[in-house]
Amino acid sequence: MTAQSPDAALRARAEKVIPGGMWGHQSVSRVPAGYPQYFVRGEGCRTWDANGRSYIDYMCAWGPMILGYGDPDVEEAAARQIKLGDGLNGPTPRLVELAELMIDTIPHADWALFSKNGTDATTACVTIARAGTRKRKILVAEGAYHGAIPWCTPSLEGVTAEDRAHIVYYQFNDVGSLEAAADSVKGDLAAILVSAFKHDLGKMHEMPTLEFARAARKMADEADAALIVDDVRAGFRLDLGGSWELVGVRPDLAAWSKAIANGRALAAVTGNDRFRKAAASIFTTGSFWTAGVAMAASIATITKLKSSDAISLMTASGQRLRDGIQAQAEKYGLPLRQSGPVQMPVFLFEGDKNCVMGTRFCVEALKRGAYFHPAHTMFLSTAHTPEIIDETLQITDEALKIVAQVADFEPV
Ligand SMILES: *Cc1c(COP(=O)(O)O)cnc(C)c1O
Repeated sequence: MTAQSPDAALRARAEKVIPGGMWGHQSVSRVPAGYPQYFVRGEGCRTWDANGRSYIDYMCAWGPMILGYGDPDVEEAAARQIKLGDGLNGPTPRLVELAELMIDTIPHADWALFSKNGTDATTACVTIARAGTRKRKILVAEGAYHGAIPWCTPSLEGVTAEDRAHIVYYQFNDVGSLEAAADSVKGDLAAILVSAFKHDLGKMHEMPTLEFARAARKMADEADAALIVDDVRAGFRLDLGGSWELVGVRPDLAAWSKAIANGRALAAVTGNDRFRKAAASIFTTGSFWTAGVAMAASIATITKLKSSDAISLMTASGQRLRDGIQAQAEKYGLPLRQSGPVQMPVFLFEGDKNCVMGTRFCVEALKRGAYFHPAHTMFLSTAHTPEIIDETLQITDEALKIVAQVADFEPV
């Protein structure tokens, strides 16, 4: 990127008016060298950066996009609601329609409430669990991401020990550690919080084992605590009824956001009747939480996901990508380890501690028009058709070939 590129010019201006140039997961220090920071457009499975380059996008706006950018059915529903009104003095009828649709779609859900971000939803789950049980302790898997406020943010800057006083950590998929954590707070356990699957940054992703999922359910029941599934990242990509339908375990409360409105700002908490009264008792709200446009978009999104067999489409494309990349990595003798569900993969190279090889691979793919992430969960959408996967595989073949030529590793 030359100093004159539009992206570089925007970065220079941002440096003066945005602390650190950018915050959070998109902070300047976290965007790999060679990656653009600014995007101007998205359509289908493609995005265009501020320098005018386009990419097949495997981040899907970090999860919110699931039917393709600018999906015509979702946009039409949103446009209709924009004409009627978005934020008004009270909710629009879309609120009730969306809650009914979610309860029809999600087996554990007897009710739903809505907010804007995943953090709102996970935090409301924790608050409802405490209100409903009159207990304080929340078990959280070490390294799991549940949002960006003091009780759960990955950085301890500005966070006090008191903010975390009632959070107790366990290891995902480790029944013994979950038992030990539960034992350590006997009599005061409000909730066990689990991710839909282990999708920690830079780590191999793991589906929950049956043993772990069942143990979590049993321990929550025995302690009269809530089982909360954080489905913010995986929601509607693995199973429309909730990700733990795959292991046959139903939570008491679940947090949703990201994909539920195909890119419009919306989050939801779903819960069962056991926590209905508690959910009604807490005070949680926000200026934009009842706005109708995102809800109209969500109704259209969920309806289309259901009618288009979206999960099968994403799974088939994800499998095609995984198989193709696996064969290429073997051809070049590269220790590439793919993990996670095929429609939410992460690509890691064995022994690649600081993601040096992973970043090199991603940068080479980027130059050729595919946008991957070297350490974070990636996402496929229904716009990632088999033809798009084949186009991507031509890019990954070239990128992996280059990585193999320069890699300083022991061939497998
Ligand atoms: C993104 C994410 C959150 C937080 O959602 P925000 O909308 O960023 O507040 C919570 N949990 C998981 C698993 C996530 O991936």
